[in-house]
Amino acid sequence: MSEPTPRIPHLIDGQRIVAGERLSAVFNPATGRVSGELPLADQRTVEAAIDAAQRAFPAWRDTPPVKRARILMRFRALLETNRDEIAASISAEHGKVLDDAGGELQRGIENVEYACQIPNLLKGEHTPQVANGIDVWNVQEPLGVVAGITPFNFPVMVPLWMYPLAIACGNTFILKPSERDPSSALMVAELLHEAGLPPGVLNVVHGDRTAVDALIESPHVRALSFVGSTPVAESLYARGCANGKRVQALGGAKNHAVVMPDADLDNTVAALMGAAFGSAGERCMAISVAVCVGDAVADALVAGLSERMATLRVGPGDIPGQEMGPLITAEHLARVRGYIDDGVEAGAELVVDGRGTCTEATHGQGFFVGASLFDRVTPEMRIYREEIFGPVLVVVRVPSLEAAVALTNAHEYGNGTCIFTRDGGAARWFTRQIEVGMVGINVPLPVPVSYHSFGGFKRSLFGDLAAYGPDGVRFYTRRKTVTERWPEGGLRESARFAFPSSS
Ligand code: NAD
Repeated sequence: MSEPTPRIPHLIDGQRIVAGERLSAVFNPATGRVSGELPLADQRTVEAAIDAAQRAFPAWRDTPPVKRARILMRFRALLETNRDEIAASISAEHGKVLDDAGGELQRGIENVEYACQIPNLLKGEHTPQVANGIDVWNVQEPLGVVAGITPFNFPVMVPLWMYPLAIACGNTFILKPSERDPSSALMVAELLHEAGLPPGVLNVVHGDRTAVDALIESPHVRALSFVGSTPVAESLYARGCANGKRVQALGGAKNHAVVMPDADLDNTVAALMGAAFGSAGERCMAISVAVCVGDAVADALVAGLSERMATLRVGPGDIPGQEMGPLITAEHLARVRGYIDDGVEAGAELVVDGRGTCTEATHGQGFFVGASLFDRVTPEMRIYREEIFGPVLVVVRVPSLEAAVALTNAHEYGNGTCIFTRDGGAARWFTRQIEVGMVGINVPLPVPVSYHSFGGFKRSLFGDLAAYGPDGVRFYTRRKTVTERWPEGGLRESARFAFPSSS
C-alpha cells in the first residue's frame, strides 16, 4: 500500500492546525512527484492567526528586549544543530543543491544574530536640558501585528529577514510562506517555539491570494513586508497603503554585470557561472545580463562561458557534486523554455541551448532545463526586458562604459549590479553613476550582510525602507518622542500664549 501524502499544517497560537480547506499540491521538482498537500487558508483561518497574534501582543511587547533576545539566541543554536535537516527540506521542495541551501540558511542565521542585538538596537536618544528644566527622549515602540509574505526562491532566508527582527522589536507576526515550498519555513518556525517563544507571537499561515487579501484587508495588521514578483509587489503596496498600513514590497530584477576590457577574464567567467546559473537562476540577485564593453571582451567571455557551461552538472539537488538543480514547477519550466524560443525568434544568437540537454532519459520527470547563453541581444527583445527567473544569461555588446551605465539605468528594475574591472577609477565612476540599489565591484552577488540593509531601486522595491538591518528596525518600530519637565515644587506659572521655544 502506498503511503498517504503528508498534509502540511498551519502553525497558529503555537499549535499545528489542519483545517478543512482547499488543498494545493507541493512537488519535489527533481522527480516531478507530489510530496505534500498544503491547505490554502480561508478567511477564517487567517482571522484565527490574527486573533492569536493580537492576544499575544501585549505581553510580548512588555517582555524586556533582553529576554526576547535570549529566545532568539536559543533559536540560533537550534538552527545550527538542525542545519542538515533544514537544508534537506529546502532542497526537497525548492530543488536547489544542498550547498546552496546551506548558504541560504547561513544568511538567515546571520539575520537572527543581528536580531539578538536588539537591546542595543532599541536604545533611544536622549537630550537633557533642551530648555531650562526640560529633557527630550525617544523610544522605538513596536507596531503590533505584522505580516510577512514570502517567495518560493529563498523559503528559509527571506522569512528570516523578517520575523526575527520584527519580534525582537516587540511585534507579533504572521508569516505567509510560498505555497510552492512551505515545509522548511514551517520547520524553522517550530524551532523558534522549541527555543521558548510564547504561543501566538509567530504564526504560520499557508495560502494563496485569498490569504494575502485577508491580511491586506484586516485593520488589525499594522504592517506588511512582502518579497516576490513586481506585479504582486506593486499591487500589494498600493492596497496595503490604501488600507492604512506601513508596507515594504520587494519585487523582481534584471541584474546587469558590466564586463570591462581589462577584467580578469577567468575569474569573471567563474563568477558569472555561479551568479547566472546558481539556484537555476531563481534568485532576485542572479546576474541575467552580461554587458560587455567592446567586441574583444564579449568574444572572449562568450567563449569562456560556453566552454564552462558544457561541463555544468545539472541534477537533483540532494546528490553531491551537482551544480544546478531543477526549476520550481512544470509551469515555470514551460515559461523559461518559452523565453528561449522567444529569444531565437527575435534574432538573438543562441550560443548554448539548454532546452535539449535535460531529457526524460537523463533527468526523468523532474523540472530540469540546461543553462542557456544568448549573444548579440538587443534592448527591445523580451529576453532582455523581462525577468526570466531561470538559467538564461544574455550578452549585450556596448561600445563604452558610459553606454553600459546608460543601458543599465534605462531598465525598469534596479536591484543588483556589478562591474568586473581592474581599473579603480572606472569602478568608482560606475558606482557613482549607476541607479541600482546594490552594487558589486568584482563581486557578482552583492547581497548586503545582515547589519546593512537589502533593497533595490525603481521597480525592484516599493516603499521607503529596505529589508533587514537598520532599515528593518525602523520599519518594525515607530518612534515616540517625549518632552519631559518636572516643575519645582510650589512654583506657580502664568499661562503662555507664544509658541514654546528655548529663547
Ligand atoms: P510571487 O510574486 O509569485 O509570490 C510571492 C508571494 O506572493 C507568495 O507567497 C505568493 O503566494 C504570493 N502571491 C502570488 N500571487 C499573488 C497575488 N496575485 N496576490 C497576492 N499574493 C500573491 O513570487 P515567487 O514566484 O514566489 O518568487 C519569485 C519572484 O520574487 C521573482 O520575481 C524574484 O525576483 C522575486 N524576489 C525578489 C527578491 C528581492 O529581494 N527583491 C527576493 C526574492 C525573490
